[in-house]
Amino acid sequence: MKNSSSVNRKKTAVVGGGWAGAAAAVTLAQNNHEVHWLESSRLLGWRARKVEVRGKNLDNGQHIMLGAYTSCLKLLKALNLNNEQCFLRLPLQMIYPEGSGMQFIAPHLPAPLHLAFALLRAQGLSREDKMALARFSTTARWMDWQLNIDCSVTELLQRYQQTENLIKLMWNPLCIAALNTPPDRASARVFLAVLRDSLGAKRNASDMLIPKLDLSALLPEAAARFVEAKGGQIRLGAMVQGLEKVESNRWQISCPSLEMGAMIYDSVVLATPAETSKRMLKDLADDQAIVDTSPAEFPQDFEYEAITTCYLQYASSTSLKRPFFALVDDPDQAHWGQFVFDRGQLHQDQSGLLAVVISAAANAIAIDKDLLVKQIAKQLADVLHMPELSQPLWHQVISEKRATFSCTPDLQRPLNRTSHTGLVLAGDYTACDYPATLESAVRSGIAAAQFLL
Ligand SMILES: Cc1cc2nc3c(=O)[nH]c(=O)nc-3n(C[C@H](O)[C@H](O)[C@H](O)COP(=O)(O)OP(=O)(O)OC[C@H]3O[C@@H](n4cnc5c(N)ncnc54)[C@H](O)[C@@H]3O)c2cc1C
Repeated sequence: MKNSSSVNRKKTAVVGGGWAGAAAAVTLAQNNHEVHWLESSRLLGWRARKVEVRGKNLDNGQHIMLGAYTSCLKLLKALNLNNEQCFLRLPLQMIYPEGSGMQFIAPHLPAPLHLAFALLRAQGLSREDKMALARFSTTARWMDWQLNIDCSVTELLQRYQQTENLIKLMWNPLCIAALNTPPDRASARVFLAVLRDSLGAKRNASDMLIPKLDLSALLPEAAARFVEAKGGQIRLGAMVQGLEKVESNRWQISCPSLEMGAMIYDSVVLATPAETSKRMLKDLADDQAIVDTSPAEFPQDFEYEAITTCYLQYASSTSLKRPFFALVDDPDQAHWGQFVFDRGQLHQDQSGLLAVVISAAANAIAIDKDLLVKQIAKQLADVLHMPELSQPLWHQVISEKRATFSCTPDLQRPLNRTSHTGLVLAGDYTACDYPATLESAVRSGIAAAQFLL
C-alpha cells in the first residue's frame, strides 16, 4: 500500500539541466515533489560544465565565485559538499604580474577595515588613484550601492571622477569580469550591486572562490544524485519540444526522444535558455488561443556576449607565483588575456596547465584560433617574465558565443512566475539584481521552485 506522502506527491518536470535547473530540482525534491529532470544534451551543467580534453576534466570556461554567493553555497552545503573540498578561497584581490599593473589585496580584517588597509598598501596606484577609489567607495556606501536612474558603468566612473589608471586597472577589468559586458554598455546599477557584495561587504562575502572540482561535479552531478535518492528521475538526451495544458491545470510535455513520449505533470519549471522558454510560452499561447492580459513574460529580447577560455599546457613543473593574476588586455598589442589561472594549484592532475580568460570576447573570437593562442602565449611570456610560456605543448580554445546576456542599463528581465498556473521560469536571465552568474541561476531556480511549493 502506498503511504500518504507518496500518494500526495506532486509530479514536477524540471526542463533544463543547468545550474538553475539543478537548484529547482533539489528544492522541489527536498519538498517531496517527484521530480523528472530533463536535459537535452548528454551532460548536466551546460554553461557551467566539464569538458573532457586529453583525459582531463577541464571546464567549458574558468569560473570564479564570491563569498557573497550565499544561495550557491547553501545549496552545496545541503548536498554535503563542503567549502574546502569545492573551492580555493582567496581574499578579494586584483593582482597583476610585477611591473605590469597594480597589487591590491584585502587583508584578513573586518569590513570596512579590510578595504582601507588594502587601499593603503596597494602598489601601482598613485595617491590620486587611492583617493579616487576611497571617494568612490564612500559615496557608493552612502548611496547604499543603489542608483535611481541607471546609466553605463563608464558614465558612473566619470561622474565619480575616477582616474584613468584606476579605470584601466580596476574598474574596467572588474566590470568585464563580473558583467561580461564592456563598461560603455554595462549597467551601472548591476555593477554597483556586485560591488556592494564585494568591496562593500563583510570580508567573508568579498572572498573569491575558485572551484577545485570540475563544474559538473561541483553542483549538477551532486544535485542529480540527490534527486534520484529522493525518488526522482534524470533524463539526459531529452529534448523537450513543447508543453500543453491538459485537464485540471496539469501539463503535458512532449519529448519524443524519450520512451515516455508525452508525460503529464502537476507543474513544470522551464529552466531552459531565455529564447527556448520564450518560444515554448509563445507556442502554448498560439495553440490554446490564450489572450494574455498579464504583463508580457519577456518584456524585451536579450543580446549576448561571448567568453573565450584558452587552455595552455606546459611542462608539469611550470607554475605561477599565485593561483591567478589579472592581465592588462590591450587588443592593439595583441594582448587578449584578462586573467590567467594556474589550474595546477586547483586540480591535482592539471600541473602545468594555465587557463586564460577573455570576457566580452567578440573581437578575440573573430581572429584565427592558432593565431590567438600564439598571441596569448606571447603575452604570458612577456608579462610574467617567463619566456618558456611562449611555447605551449598543446592548447585548447573554448569559445562560448552566448555565454551570458549583455547586462545593459535598465534591462527588463522576466519574472519567475508566468500567467499560467503551475508553470514557472528559471535561469540566470530572470529578474534579479545580479548579472548572469551561477548565483543568479541558483537563486532563480530556488525562487521558481518556491512558487510551486
Ligand atoms: C565561459 C563562461 C564563463 C562564465 N564565468 C562565470 C563566472 O566566473 N562566475 C559566474 O558566476 N558565472 C559565470 N558564467 C555564467 C554562468 O555559467 C551562467 O550564468 C549559468 O551557468 C547559467 O545557468 P542556467 O541554468 O541559467 O542556464 P544554462 O546553463 O544555459 O542551462 C539551460 C539548460 O537547458 C537545456 N535545454 C535547452 N533546451 C532544452 C530543451 N528543449 N529540452 C531540454 N533541455 C533543454 C540546455 O542544454 C542547458 O543545459 C560563465 C558562463 C560561461 C559560458
